[in-house]
Amino acid sequence: MAELKQGATIGIFGGGQLGRMLVQAAQKLGFKTHVFDPFDDTPAGRIADNKTIAPFEDEAAVEFFASCCDVVTYEFENIPSAAIEHAAKFSNVYPDKRALQTSHDRLIEKTYLRDKADAPVVDFAAIETMNSLSEFVREFGAPAVLKTRRFGYDGKGQVKVNSPRDVKAGFARLGGTDLIAEGFAPFVREFSIIAARGLRGGLNGEIACYPLTENVHKDHRLHTSIAPADDPQNISTEAHAITHRILKALDYVGVMGVEFFELAGGKLIVNEIAPRVHNSGHWTQDAGCTDQFEQHIRAITGMRLGATTPTHRVKMTNLIGEEILQADALSKRPNTYVHDYDKHDIRPGRKMGHVNEVMGRL
Ligand code: AMP
Repeated sequence: MAELKQGATIGIFGGGQLGRMLVQAAQKLGFKTHVFDPFDDTPAGRIADNKTIAPFEDEAAVEFFASCCDVVTYEFENIPSAAIEHAAKFSNVYPDKRALQTSHDRLIEKTYLRDKADAPVVDFAAIETMNSLSEFVREFGAPAVLKTRRFGYDGKGQVKVNSPRDVKAGFARLGGTDLIAEGFAPFVREFSIIAARGLRGGLNGEIACYPLTENVHKDHRLHTSIAPADDPQNISTEAHAITHRILKALDYVGVMGVEFFELAGGKLIVNEIAPRVHNSGHWTQDAGCTDQFEQHIRAITGMRLGATTPTHRVKMTNLIGEEILQADALSKRPNTYVHDYDKHDIRPGRKMGHVNEVMGRL
C-alpha cells in the first residue's frame, strides 16, 4: 500500500476510548475517520466523521464500512476475526488477521511466542480435563494459574491453583474445556514495551520501541504506569530485542503492547501481547515524544514513524468509576493532564479516563 495522503479515510472497528484517541490522532494528521461499533453513542463514534452502527457479524455492514475506508484497524482484540477477514476483501487491514487470531487464544499466543518469536514464556499446557490439570501441577509444581483460553482480560477468567489440593475447586470454578494452565511467574515487577512497526520497507518495516513502562495493577486492573521505568539491571535491551522478534515474526503493522514479567535477577518472561494501542502506553501523550495513537496511525498509513524517546518521565493513573469526578481538581494541578473519555454513565470498575503527571525532565 502506498503512503496515504491527508483526507484519506481510516476505519476503526470499536468505538471505545482507544478508538476515540485513535480518531483524535488521525484527525490531527489530517485524515478522516469512520468508526464501526454495534452501539450508537460511543466515545469514538461521537467524534468520528462517519460511523456504521451494526453487529460485527453483519457482513453487508462490514463490506460497506471497509469499502468507505482506505485502511481499516481495530481498537480491541475481541473483534471476531471473521469481521477482519471480510473487511480485508474491500480494504487494507492492519494489523492483519494473524495478529488478531494469535492474541485471541492464550494457547495459540504462547505457542507462537515460544516457537516463532523465540520469546521466553512460562511453562504451559492445554487443559481439557481435571486430570490434565493434576498432571500439569505434578509436572511443573504449584502454584499454577488456570485461565480460559479466550475472552479473558483484566484477571477475568483465571484462578490460581496454590497446591494439588486446589485442583478440583480451581477446575470447577472455570469449568469448560478450553483452558490453559500456566506456571506461576514469581515476578518482582510487571512492565510493558509499546512498539510500532511501519509499512515502509515492506517486510523489513521500520520498528520503533518506547522505553520500559513499569505497570502496577489493582484489583486485576492496570492502575498506574510509569515511564521510563528504572532499569538498574539493563533489561530494556533484551526486552526490546524480544519485542523486535515478535513484531517481525507476525509481519506486524501498527502499535503493539507486549506485557512482561521481570523475575529476580533480571530474567524476563512475556505474559501476553495486545495487537493494538495499549493502556500502559497512555503516558506517551504527555511525554514529549510521538504518542502511541499518532504512532499507530503513522504505521498503518505508511508514514514515517515518529520519535519514541520521551523528554520527560510521566506517571499515568487510570480514573476508574467515580474517580473521574476528581478530574476538575486534578486538572488544576501543574504538569497534570486529564484525559476524559466522555463516557455518559459512571459505572463501578469502568475506565472513565486517565491522568498523566509529568514528573521531571530526562
Ligand atoms: P492476564 O489476564 O494474563 O493479563 O493476567 C492478569 C494479571 O494476572 C497479570 O498482570 C499478572 O499480574 C497475573 N498473572 C497472569 N498470569 C500469571 C502467571 N502465569 N504468573 C503470575 N502471575 C500471573
